[in-house]
Amino acid sequence: MQDISFFKDIADNPEAYARKWKDETRGRIIGHFCSYTPIEIVIAAGALPFRVLSLRADSSRADAHLQSYCCNVVRSALHDALSGRLDFLDGAVFPHTCDSIQRLSDIWRINNLQRFHADVILPVKLNSDSAREYLVEVLARFRNDLERGLGVEITADKLREAIDICNRNRKSLGKLYRTMQNHPKRLRASELYQINRAAMVMDGRRLADKLDELVSRLESVDDDDDFSGKRIILSGGVCHVPDISRIIEKLGAAVVWDDFCTGARYFQGFIDEKAEPIEAIARRYFDRIVCPAKHASLSSRGDYLVEAVKYTRAHGIVFVLQKFCDPHAFDYPYLRERLVEIGIPSILIEIESQQAGSGQLETRIEAFLEIL
Ligand code: SF4
Ligand code: SF4
Repeated sequence: MQDISFFKDIADNPEAYARKWKDETRGRIIGHFCSYTPIEIVIAAGALPFRVLSLRADSSRADAHLQSYCCNVVRSALHDALSGRLDFLDGAVFPHTCDSIQRLSDIWRINNLQRFHADVILPVKLNSDSAREYLVEVLARFRNDLERGLGVEITADKLREAIDICNRNRKSLGKLYRTMQNHPKRLRASELYQINRAAMVMDGRRLADKLDELVSRLESVDDDDDFSGKRIILSGGVCHVPDISRIIEKLGAAVVWDDFCTGARYFQGFIDEKAEPIEAIARRYFDRIVCPAKHASLSSRGDYLVEAVKYTRAHGIVFVLQKFCDPHAFDYPYLRERLVEIGIPSILIEIESQQAGSGQLETRIEAFLEIL
């Protein structure tokens, strides 16, 4: 068990971190909801990108604005905004991905929740030259919107600096994932969850130093921590339910990889530091595995999961589906069919809020581990 109390404190109360950062720096904070947000451009504008992620059991303030079939990610974000928990935000960015985020953007704008508001209309297909050219234009427009909205100049040098810091952090997170994969007792998935959660709201430079420190601490560990239990991959969209990793660990198994946009997809893909910055930022979205709200090819997500199973020597996959999350719900049958074809066991767990840590969930995971 590592000492990750620094990250855990931030993960437990990201809003307190943001308020403190604002008091100390007088800087601006831009909220976002999706890993398709070009945070590099936000950082280059001198602002702090803050991933809004709450998943509350109570999201009653949002009920008057949203249909009952909207996922809890969107519902909780709106509840938090309407109840003043996000009053430190100076703006919000909404990438064009799933319907729920698009509708959230409309409601956010109509309710005038922050001064700066941007929709980033990304292409749906991320697999052609024309889509890439289009994406470069979209990102350039976002850069202009931010410049106008925040009254700053986003120079190529500032963009390069932001890319450099994001690359550095993504590289460190990649190392931590490899440690979890090779030494699941040295760094547990439930600990990595806290680190990721903190990383998604932290100041990039401060984060880089803290991650460097943790990586070198882990690299200097000289223990014989061979793990012989069941190795699991978690797959889904937004995962804000640490209990799932904890339950798997409590049952003697280990999570060795994830396919979450709040997990591995958050750090995957490096940005070419020598290329023109906006084009390089666009290219990363083409290199990285897509989430099901985007399209690369009919088999890309299935191929990716099969490769991940081989690479991490996993015994099975736990799909974690947010209730009412259409993109992942539509993705699941095809992924499952692919896994059945080649004999990789999997289970689907539907979650709605933090209450997922129930006995029922533990019983289902235990039964799944037994069949592996
Ligand atoms: S699953 Fe995809 S669309 Fe949904 S929040 Fe994550 S990156 Fe965005
Ligand atoms: S991708 Fe799914 S979980 Fe994420 S915001 Fe959209 S509907 Fe909600």
